[in-house]
Amino acid sequence: MNSLFQTYKRFPFEIVKGQETTLTDNSGKEYLDLTSGIGVCNLGYSATAVKQAVSSQLDKIWHTSNLYESSLQEKVAELLTVGTNKKVFFCNSGTEANEAALKLARKATGKKKVLAFDHSFHGRTYGSLSLTGNETIKTGFGPLVPDIAFATYNDFAALAQITSDLAAVILEVIQGEGGIVNGNPKWLHAIAQKCHDLGVLLIIDEVQSGMGRTGKLFAYQHYELDPDIVTVAKGLANGLPVGAMIGKENLASAFGPGSHGTTFGGNPLAMAAAAAVLETLDAAFLEAVQQKASFFWYYLEKDLAPLAEVTALSGKGLMVGIHLKKELPVENVITALQHAGLLTLSSRDNTLRLLPPLVITGSELLKSLEIIKNVLQNMTVSQ
Ligand SMILES: *Cc1c(COP(=O)(O)O)cnc(C)c1O
Repeated sequence: MNSLFQTYKRFPFEIVKGQETTLTDNSGKEYLDLTSGIGVCNLGYSATAVKQAVSSQLDKIWHTSNLYESSLQEKVAELLTVGTNKKVFFCNSGTEANEAALKLARKATGKKKVLAFDHSFHGRTYGSLSLTGNETIKTGFGPLVPDIAFATYNDFAALAQITSDLAAVILEVIQGEGGIVNGNPKWLHAIAQKCHDLGVLLIIDEVQSGMGRTGKLFAYQHYELDPDIVTVAKGLANGLPVGAMIGKENLASAFGPGSHGTTFGGNPLAMAAAAAVLETLDAAFLEAVQQKASFFWYYLEKDLAPLAEVTALSGKGLMVGIHLKKELPVENVITALQHAGLLTLSSRDNTLRLLPPLVITGSELLKSLEIIKNVLQNMTVSQ
């Protein structure tokens, strides 16, 4: 495997098959999955509704360009905006959704400046990378997009940095790559209020926290926020590449014909998958996610939080951060968990991150907790 740019540090095995929440590697080893392909395959790896929607679309048409009407795009847009009068722009990834948000915010307000937060992650293209609060991944790529400032997440002092000359403030209500950091609800409200008062657009990046991950379609709905722009991607089509930028109707005139576009955005296969995903994520499904999550959190608090290896828990719903003491590097824990048949993720600050498929069962969650507990305890002994 040396014909690829080595942009990813890969584990030394390949996943060759997926069924529900179980993945099989190229040596036949099976894993219970707590990654969802990084928050993507929320309905598991054999989601029948999605599979059927895509294969029947495959028999009709799989690409047309955006030169023609698309009832499928209209359908997905309606499902994403029910009960609101928002509008949607479809693209192919989270970074593109944030790119569209940045462009729309500047054009609609006629202002240039944007405020983002430390330890945020918004993507890797120039606009989104410039909004990302992680110096390591920006190194060597400058100059970045100008007029983007950073403030400290969850710090009330950040309010002073919101001034009327800003086009927008962009944030995640739960920082994903930043270490699973929950936004303080009071702080989120204060930020939203100040944006509203000063005519600054509020952009909420729901690429990781959205699509039912926290038990609501969008995580911001837990906090009764009213963002001007919302971006989604990862879980939207359960594995087909897609992104969407959702914005309030009053912004629509800035995104008229010719202002923005993409060849693949709103592709029929991706849209067929997204429609099936959104139709699955109904009130009963989201309620079930909340129930499973509260069951899981009960055991996380009871069985994992007290361990000497664990310094804190964070997250919401099925977006979970297990913060490990620094003597226990999360990379080693992930490898040990793989040997024990469990796939997990890391996040900033030595955090073990869990993003299980939302269709995982209560008993699978309990089983995974047992494995994590055993691995953590055995690792300490062997040191
Ligand atoms: C993954 C992620 C992105 C980037 O999405 P890509 O599809 O990888 O471009 C942006 N924002 C957040 C919060 C993410 O988790």
